[in-house]
Amino acid sequence: MTPELWKRIPETTNSQEAQNFKVYSAIDKHMPLIPGIKGLYKFAISYRELESAAAHGVKIFYGDDPQHWKRSAARYGYTKPSRHNAARRRKIKNDGRPPDTSKALMTKKSRPAEHAAVYEKSYKWRDNSCWLDCALTLISTAASRDYGQSMAPMFEALPANSPLRDLRQMVHTRTQGSIELLGYEDGGSNLLNNQRDGFRRQIRHVRGHQDRGLRSFSSVFGWLYAICGHHRRRGAVVDPLVERASSYFRSTVVSLKACTGNSSGFDHWQLSHVRARSEFQLSRTLCEKYAGNVRKWFQDLVRVTKSIPQSGCWQVDDGQALCLHGNVVMHEVLLNLPIVLIVEMGVR
Ligand SMILES: [Zn+2]
Repeated sequence: MTPELWKRIPETTNSQEAQNFKVYSAIDKHMPLIPGIKGLYKFAISYRELESAAAHGVKIFYGDDPQHWKRSAARYGYTKPSRHNAARRRKIKNDGRPPDTSKALMTKKSRPAEHAAVYEKSYKWRDNSCWLDCALTLISTAASRDYGQSMAPMFEALPANSPLRDLRQMVHTRTQGSIELLGYEDGGSNLLNNQRDGFRRQIRHVRGHQDRGLRSFSSVFGWLYAICGHHRRRGAVVDPLVERASSYFRSTVVSLKACTGNSSGFDHWQLSHVRARSEFQLSRTLCEKYAGNVRKWFQDLVRVTKSIPQSGCWQVDDGQALCLHGNVVMHEVLLNLPIVLIVEMGVR
């Protein structure tokens, strides 16, 4: 330990005791040696993950202040009721007379008022709009982390009829202070409600969006794939600017096939066109395959060395296979990870 670090250790043992309490709460007391060590190891890993998350700007605490007790200490002089020496304050000398209750009541100081809960303005539910409200709120929250560096430049100069352009405008309104978001407004924010309703009308006509009327319920992110051009007609040309903005939510992949060739031939390769990947879904089958471990699923997803055996070679001439004994494998390589990664859970 460096002398500087040593000097920074506080003189009280409060922090050590607090950590002891956390360890006991997380692992338990009086553990046998091996389960105890395993528990401590997991405890350390969880702290390492928190540190890594914090280093990447992820919020790792609830509420708006990680050290809220300091605020209580400054306001009340103590951090919790059990720390408050109430007995000493109530020490009144008995003069033999009955207590003057009205006087005691009148002079009793009322507790300082607590701050009202902080409200964040949002969309007001209307005509089964929860699917869209939920999606827009999630997207705004995710985009707010680095809106200026990612969403704003990637969604620039989109054609006027692109719903992605309106989506960016809605995120801009929520995240860039176009309205005062904090504070209670009865019935939600009018501006946000109007934006949401207009957008809902607009995406009704997008190819692939299953809309059965303005009051209908829809899936949370189905419309997003539709406006990213997932259901485009075969051969339809998509504006590169729309393609670029879509990659904010979608991955692109390329498949590489390799064949060992006949005994006399050469090995050969085939590279597919770059195409948008289908939605990321976590089905029951995948859950069983990775034993419920999302991390393993994701590592496997982005692994470039995995190969899928194929039934035969792609080289044919007039319906005749040219390469009868070649062993063929396919590699699917993920070219980008979307900035907002949407994973559908519980899909069968
Ligand atoms: Zn072949």
